[in-house]
Amino acid sequence: METKLKPDERGYFGSFGGAFIPEMMQANVTELRENYKQIMASDEFRQEFEKLLSDYVGRPSPLYLATRLSDKYGAHIYLKREDLNHTGSHKINNALGQIILAKKLGKKKIIAETGAGQHGVATATACALMGIECVVFMGEIDVARQAPNVGRMKMLGATVVPVSSGSKTLKDATNEAMRYWISNPFDTHYIIGSVVGPHPYPDMVARFQSVISEEIRKQLKEKTGTEFPDRVIACVGGGSNASGAFFHFIEDEQVELIAAEAAGKGLESGFTAAATFKGKSGILHGSKTLFMQTDDGQVVEPHSISAGLDYPGIGPALAHWFESGRVKYEAVTDEEAMTAGKELCLLEGIIPAVESAHALATLDKINIRPGETIVINLSGRGDKDLETYLERL
Ligand SMILES: *Cc1c(COP(=O)(O)O)cnc(C)c1O
Repeated sequence: METKLKPDERGYFGSFGGAFIPEMMQANVTELRENYKQIMASDEFRQEFEKLLSDYVGRPSPLYLATRLSDKYGAHIYLKREDLNHTGSHKINNALGQIILAKKLGKKKIIAETGAGQHGVATATACALMGIECVVFMGEIDVARQAPNVGRMKMLGATVVPVSSGSKTLKDATNEAMRYWISNPFDTHYIIGSVVGPHPYPDMVARFQSVISEEIRKQLKEKTGTEFPDRVIACVGGGSNASGAFFHFIEDEQVELIAAEAAGKGLESGFTAAATFKGKSGILHGSKTLFMQTDDGQVVEPHSISAGLDYPGIGPALAHWFESGRVKYEAVTDEEAMTAGKELCLLEGIIPAVESAHALATLDKINIRPGETIVINLSGRGDKDLETYLERL
């Protein structure tokens, strides 16, 4: 049995995972669990998914040797350009995979949660493409601070529901989407945007995102003669782009895997989102995982300058890879991410998402061996973050 990559039949990666859900959600989650592998393995599914990934998303995304960045660090640094995907990030890979799956299960309506709005936009896009009704739950605070993405979702025909409970951000939007699903169980599929939630979501979403590392291996082989970089680096909110970038390297121990968590204003500041550094084990959004909590188990409000990393926990596989030591975690502050993001603009002419800038910032934290090969997953583009960058220029 393989526990590093795939969960056991109850959805556990080591001691994390499972499906802790109310009775009223059981039918939907069971239907998904009993069907997802078989549907994903069918020729019909694969052909439709692969065609959309190539002709609609624009895959394979380039693996770009960033020469000026490489010169600065004395290494061969490749950027996996998920920022060039349609809708601007890796989120579209998962949204398309899940909507094809939902169609095959006969669902008529899609719901989703979103923080920065990237997953909401990807889901609204997939729904428009398929002609399926789309409802997106979004915290009131995020609705206000991510106005351009709210506009995009509306243009794409989605209904955006502002959530005013709790801290009015991502975790509250997730709670609200789960509540809605419970009261509309029959014709609705819930497209979760990361490798979080009850089994089978963490496994299913990782599989949809695994196209990232599948391509990295192939592209690196073409460019360098070997499929294996020395290191792969990705940022972690819930962990979907990291899971995708790590997936086909997990078994290859010679490849060091590094996850960048958002330290916010600093690990000891009380304003952070670094779940492995500050979290404890508990149940969050349907699975057992690491998240920031008070002594009596209440979720602690996260903080990160990037809305996509502003989540109190991480997915169960990410928690397992932390516990087992397979993935190394680095904490990156808001300020360090800003500096690294601006550096990429000037060295390479690429404006990265502030989330992705956290991955770039780890270059200053790891001990780079001269001439080594590093792949950084550039999870998204920074157009949505211009205001954040400009305020600090
Ligand atoms: C949503 C998002 C993330 C964080 O989510 P993961 O599930 O951890 O990948 C990172 N980068 C970008 C650009 C995003 O939109």
